[in-house]
Amino acid sequence: MNGQKDNYPKSAEAFTEAEKILPGGVNSPVRAFGGVDTDPLFIERAVGSKVYDIDGNEYIDYVGSWGPMILGHAHPKVIEAIGAAVSRGTSFGAPTLAETSLAQKIIAAFSSIEKVRLVSSGTEAVMAAVRLARAYTKKDLIIKMAGCYHGHSDSLLVAVGSGLAEAGRPSSAGVPDSIAELTIVIPYNDIDAAETAFQKHKGKIAAVIVEPVAANMGVVPPIDGYLGALRSLCDAEDALLIFDEVITGFRLAPGGAQELFGVKADITCLGKIVGGGLPAAAFGGRADIMDMLAPVGAVYQAGTLSGNPIATAAANATLNMLAKGNCYQKLESISAGLEAGLANAAKDAGVAVTINRVGSIMSCFFTPHQLRPSRTLESVEKAGFLCGAIGAGVRNFADVQSTNIKQFKRFFAEMLRRGIYLAPSAYEAMFVSLAHTQQDIEKTIEAAKESFRKAEGEK
Ligand SMILES: *Cc1c(COP(=O)(O)O)cnc(C)c1O
Repeated sequence: MNGQKDNYPKSAEAFTEAEKILPGGVNSPVRAFGGVDTDPLFIERAVGSKVYDIDGNEYIDYVGSWGPMILGHAHPKVIEAIGAAVSRGTSFGAPTLAETSLAQKIIAAFSSIEKVRLVSSGTEAVMAAVRLARAYTKKDLIIKMAGCYHGHSDSLLVAVGSGLAEAGRPSSAGVPDSIAELTIVIPYNDIDAAETAFQKHKGKIAAVIVEPVAANMGVVPPIDGYLGALRSLCDAEDALLIFDEVITGFRLAPGGAQELFGVKADITCLGKIVGGGLPAAAFGGRADIMDMLAPVGAVYQAGTLSGNPIATAAANATLNMLAKGNCYQKLESISAGLEAGLANAAKDAGVAVTINRVGSIMSCFFTPHQLRPSRTLESVEKAGFLCGAIGAGVRNFADVQSTNIKQFKRFFAEMLRRGIYLAPSAYEAMFVSLAHTQQDIEKTIEAAKESFRKAEGEK
């Protein structure tokens, strides 16, 4: 961004220092702002819907630490729970009551989960889920969808979205072909492709892994019947269905996308919200599958800090808050207001935008035309959920890649200048939290009016 050094002198200097000793200046690639051709902001603190950089600028935050901060930053109840836990000691390497309590909450929320294991990151949860599926089915191949991100374990670093979509790389260096070959990649939302893959690799598919609402290539909802079709295929072919609900779990509904779309997974991966802003994640499923894990079964999985007492306290406090009142309706109405305002602002600016939204995650895709007619999902309406206005114009990774990234970059820069902190990538979602106020939404829409106009100039 031009004028970066003037607006953010301390961040610019901090990044120069960090780059000398951290690869790319960051500890997770997308934080480097590579997708928007600028340098990252260094954050000093955050509270509620706001983040503050080290230059003293305030922003309305739609990154939310990439998903966990559904209550907003530094929620008093979460901070209190963390404080109380810290004073009792930070790690024991032995069972605690809080772990059972967290597992009970997860099981109560997800009807497909009978037993849970707590881990420290989404990557770990997915890696273990895949190992478990292979052991359970005694098969090796995994089907994944292009543009879905499932963490950075070897088997799943194939055709991912998120940080790697940026670089246009299909996978990562250092992943042996012999491992990547075990992962069959097909387009998201393509039932025929899934059927074909099962036919072609008859009797060899251990599992299908999918983000039930894709959110690492921007937000891409499943077309009607998609998740149900995957369920049927897995049942017919004795494969397990793994839902990676690391983003969607406890965000779209307490029971995640499974509750929303009425399709059950065999194994569910959770993270982000389930860690309450600390490093905790989980995977769970049917008892007969989960009991294959050590120490009961032969599938090894372990972690020094798994079920860490501080992370577990933050998680329990977060899930307690989410269980109160009508959090999900509140999130829906804030998010619907934002979506409508952004759509109007784009229309007024004459810029072609498709907004995909499911509950409190959404994306503005800059598309020169509506790629496919927009429609709402019948299954969602039937379930009686307030998941309004789902644009299905962008339905898979190829659609996402055909959107105008130049316009997105300009939009991002203009919004940032106006105090709105969006994810620094055209391939990431906007996360709305319970801390976002009506005033935040109005300010965001106001900023978007001029920003969309500037973006339109980038055609
Ligand atoms: C973030 C994410 C992961 C990885 O979680 P980490 O905690 O970053 O390892 C896995 N799957 C999905 C869908 C995610 O969004």
